Amino acid sequence: MPENQALLLSPNSVLANALLRTIDILRPRVQAARPQRIEFVVGTQINGAPHLGTNLVQTAAFLLAKVARREFSIDTTVYFGALDNAPFEVTLDPDTHHAYQQTYFHALGKEGIGELIDTYYRDFFESLAEATGTDYVIETYTDQQASPGFRAEFLRTLEHLDGIRWWIAPSHGVVHVRVPCPECGWAEKRADRTKLVHLDEDGAVFTAVCLDHGGYEAQVDPEDGGPYLDLATLYRNLVKERALGRDTSVLRVMMKGGDWAFGCQLVDGALGALGTPAAQMPMRIFTPQVLAPTGAKLSKSLLREHGSSLLPADVEPWMLDTTAWQGSTDNYVDALVWLVGELLADPKHLFRSFTVKELGRLMSVRPDDLDARPRAHEMGIYKRYFDLIASGRKTTEIRVNDSSRKKIKVGSLIRFRCREEEVLTRVTRVARYADFEEMFAHEDLGSVNPLASREQQLANVRQIYPPEREALGVLALGIELV
Ligand SMILES: [Zn+2]
Repeated sequence: MPENQALLLSPNSVLANALLRTIDILRPRVQAARPQRIEFVVGTQINGAPHLGTNLVQTAAFLLAKVARREFSIDTTVYFGALDNAPFEVTLDPDTHHAYQQTYFHALGKEGIGELIDTYYRDFFESLAEATGTDYVIETYTDQQASPGFRAEFLRTLEHLDGIRWWIAPSHGVVHVRVPCPECGWAEKRADRTKLVHLDEDGAVFTAVCLDHGGYEAQVDPEDGGPYLDLATLYRNLVKERALGRDTSVLRVMMKGGDWAFGCQLVDGALGALGTPAAQMPMRIFTPQVLAPTGAKLSKSLLREHGSSLLPADVEPWMLDTTAWQGSTDNYVDALVWLVGELLADPKHLFRSFTVKELGRLMSVRPDDLDARPRAHEMGIYKRYFDLIASGRKTTEIRVNDSSRKKIKVGSLIRFRCREEEVLTRVTRVARYADFEEMFAHEDLGSVNPLASREQQLANVRQIYPPEREALGVLALGIELV
């Protein structure tokens, strides 16, 4: 590629035109809510090997968490929702022709789901967490739907069913709630014969019909994790976003593939019908769709249904099944982090779609030394401190103890960055303190900053970190040049 040629060109768009930088999309909510933490929420169906689109959303979540942490000086994490209620098998009742389905959870059990997550996501997330200095949690849909917050929110939606049902089901107004048979775990796919028969402050009672076990009754009560609630996609998102919005001290940012942008209008209608306050409305970021040459979203289920003859010539095997990548997980993650980093660098690049051919081209021109750069925690730093580190005079670095520091230990590498400059160091010592006063009482002042008194240093560090950040605790890191 000629050096003066841009890596990629993107036209302006309404959203990109309003933003100088991608991360600015979060600023109105951060300004209004002053959250203590930002959590980037990404949900993925656990039904086999991920394709590129799935990994793009996940990588964007980790990278945005890194950028937001630096931009807003707020702790950030990633929440991965493993959707283990994806349909595993569908069958027809031979007599009535009602379709029944079994979720992955009901077919494979908790351990089977855990194995699927380990196989397809664990190493990938561990590598992303290391590459971006971002901590994450994994929760299955099965655990989420059993939580009191989810159940209470679900019961509240039942009280307002008339207000939301046309939003959730605009074509017929019938909301489907699948409550699987307690004996066998199968549920009527469209829940035609599942009825809400009673609702009061203690909960709700549904009746349903199993193809093997006949009629059954299920009582949903917020204090009890059973029976299983398998909600259709829009309804599940409504309940999830309502539940996550309650705690305004944490700003939850829903990370979604771009095709969701068309569907969220319906969720928003339902959120409005429930009287959701503005401060509790979900914040969402839509990531690029991966498109076949026809302009249609690259879809594994479409290929499964219509055969691989539909497979566009530009699709490389790893794009459909990322386990086919030729190289290690770290190598794949480094390439994705580079790619998504380039997309995040300009809102015009992020808020658009990409054909598989264009993504293949971008991946092929990635720097070939990505692997050669050792994995390191990255930290931005002011020029005067950067120079002291680079010259070897500053051998203790001070940081607050937020979630991104959890994995720093003796031997970890830290790459300090100041604009275009960087310096690589190795951690020789980790000490934790309650606050800066205690830290300065124990640390060698000259190793933190050889040029300033204790009082000056305390004033300087408190200019950088407000009291709510200092309250996280303080880390003193011994460092040496590498
Ligand atoms: Zn049954």
